[in-house]
Formats: sequence, C-alpha cells, structure tokens
Amino acid sequence: MSQELDKAYEHDKRVKKVFRLRIVYNKKGCIASDHCVLSDPYDFKLDDEFKAILIDGKEQEGPVKGIFVKEIETTEPHLAINAAKTCTPKVIAIIDMETGKRIAP
Ligand code: SF4
Repeated sequence: MSQELDKAYEHDKRVKKVFRLRIVYNKKGCIASDHCVLSDPYDFKLDDEFKAILIDGKEQEGPVKGIFVKEIETTEPHLAINAAKTCTPKVIAIIDMETGKRIAP
C-alpha cells in the first residue's frame, strides 16, 4: 500500500469516519505467528494450536475449505490493515467495501 493510501485509512479522532471493511482469512496458510492478534485483538484470537481464528468469521461454502470472511464497520481501520500487513504468510486480506478495492496487504 502506498503512503498516500495508508494515510487515507489513518485513524482520525476528529472526523470519526466509519469504514466498511471485509476481512478474508485463509486459515490453512496460518503458521501460528500471532501477529494478527497483537495488531487486531478485536477481530483475531488464537485456537488451541495457536492458529488464528477470525472472530465471528463465517467459513465460505464451496470446494475450498478454511476460508473465513467477516464484514466490519470501524473508525479504526488500521487495526485490521496492520493484522494483514504483519501476517508473514499473507493469509489475511482487507477489502474496502466502499471502493471494492483490496487495501492490505
Ligand atoms: S499473523 Fe497470520 S500466520 Fe500469524 S497467527 Fe495471524 S493469520 Fe496466522
């Protein structure tokens, strides 16, 4: 993500803009590194094997298993964005539902 785009998703207490984001998480690729939980504890937690769980995420139907999706409304989009950016295997993607564009990683 460019610095300009990064700025567009910075938390601004005065404006309190609400962002609608879709979080897509591929659990099969998780290597249990914990970065997502440290970045965004509102949307991620760990299971018994220290793999990430997308809190309230729904598993997608279809032949490919282990893909979880959740839509959120937040004034602090940088939390989910940082979770996606810090995930080493890049198994988390963030899409801005207003523009339809992938904004992280
Ligand atoms: S940061 Fe990525 S690899 Fe690490 S626990 Fe979270 S989803 Fe798994």
